[in-house]
Amino acid sequence: MRHLLLCLLFGLCSLAHGQEQSFSFSDSAILQRLQQDVFILASDTLQGREAGTIGDSLSVGYIISRYQEIGLEPKGNDSGSFIQPVPYTYSDFPWSENYLYTDYDQYKYRHEFGMTSFSANDKVHGELLNVGHGIVDSLLFRDDYAGRENPEGRVLLMEFPLPDDLPEDSVILNKLSVRNRLAEAFRRGAVAVLLWNSDSHDYPTLFNFKDRDIMPGPVFFITEPVAWKLKKLNGYSIFMKATLNKVHTTYNNVIGFLDRHAAQTVIIGAHYDHVGLNKRNIAKCGADDNASGIALMLELARYLKNQVNSRYNYLFIAFGAEELGMIGSAYFCSHPVIPLEEVAYMCNFDMVGRLGAEGNRITVLGTATSPQWKTIYNEMPEFPFRIKKYKGASNFSDQECFYKEKVPIFYITTGLHPDYHTHHDRPERINYTGMVDITKFAEEFITRTGEAGTIEFQPVSGQATFFSDLNYYIRQIGHLFDMPWQDFP
Ligand SMILES: [Zn+2]
Repeated sequence: MRHLLLCLLFGLCSLAHGQEQSFSFSDSAILQRLQQDVFILASDTLQGREAGTIGDSLSVGYIISRYQEIGLEPKGNDSGSFIQPVPYTYSDFPWSENYLYTDYDQYKYRHEFGMTSFSANDKVHGELLNVGHGIVDSLLFRDDYAGRENPEGRVLLMEFPLPDDLPEDSVILNKLSVRNRLAEAFRRGAVAVLLWNSDSHDYPTLFNFKDRDIMPGPVFFITEPVAWKLKKLNGYSIFMKATLNKVHTTYNNVIGFLDRHAAQTVIIGAHYDHVGLNKRNIAKCGADDNASGIALMLELARYLKNQVNSRYNYLFIAFGAEELGMIGSAYFCSHPVIPLEEVAYMCNFDMVGRLGAEGNRITVLGTATSPQWKTIYNEMPEFPFRIKKYKGASNFSDQECFYKEKVPIFYITTGLHPDYHTHHDRPERINYTGMVDITKFAEEFITRTGEAGTIEFQPVSGQATFFSDLNYYIRQIGHLFDMPWQDFP
């Protein structure tokens, strides 16, 4: 059915049968294929390829058709499917059902207060008690509850960033994590906690998606102005209700394998999902982010299929749900379809269609994640663009979990531009000639890794600074009131 739909939508009926094809590798043939893949994946019909939507399913169908046409083997699961299902549970917070009010004010959900990943489903009321930072630590001779009223049955107001004067000791800081201070508050009989901060850079700790520590009562985040108002209401009644609906869903990774009967496998990946429609229902079609990366990955598959002598097998992964927090790649890293020890390295392509957006250069990340990378980069021939290198892996895209699993990584992007995540990220705006050059760069690089001996992993000291501030904003603060609590089932 999915194939039939694609067939009708795109006139790609020859693809629907999955017949393997042979390809010309002239520049114009490569450009044409890149263009076709980007235009189809970024067409309005796919409605911005948001994870879990019909646009997602159509994208999956299209990528499978391409894998079949190239002649890749299905490797998504053991029963011969290209799809690796990615089960996922998230919480939905109904707008109208959550409240926070006093006898004087009713606060606006998502504007003045929001849910945190620690919150339980409950409706409570109690008198307000300000407990400062909520710190209790005998080694520090500090007890923020001392000298205050009994917290039992009360709604506690707690400032969650730790004060600056604490020792830089990771054991102490861990003991005083938000989680542990919340647990202490509920142990002392609190019915709910309102967290606030005066430092806008410190939201993410509330939305640690891996943290599944649900507290016994509601835990809201409140904005600083609300906190200042409430501070004057010590002892006054607070009424609050937290409602979370758990939603179980399944996303997809689309995985094809090129088996060369080699001992090691190279993973080549790109995410296929995007962010759907804007508020006026116009598709944010994500031509650069990341139809471009998928098109480039598919072109590499065609090229590598044609290279018969290879030291490596190749695993091609179109990751799903990257935009929701790299869910597809995180799932793959915890449920790999081949042992990660057999992975030589991982290449990721995310936004490779705007050569020129940050000057005539590409940015390559992870250049210090293997000692072999340096030699390869130094010996690469000239390309018609400059290369900006970042040593670290960055936490901006799907390569992140591979790096954490000690796999050397190699991530190319042409960088950010004003059309990023807007409906202006359209296929007409892609630099296809630039994409041909980047494809050839990647081909050259991958070919050279086959001659470079073992590619060893090397950890990179310090965090990559690339994108980190922006990443912080987009992934955490930008979604503050949108996706507060999600995890794997
Ligand atoms: Zn992206």
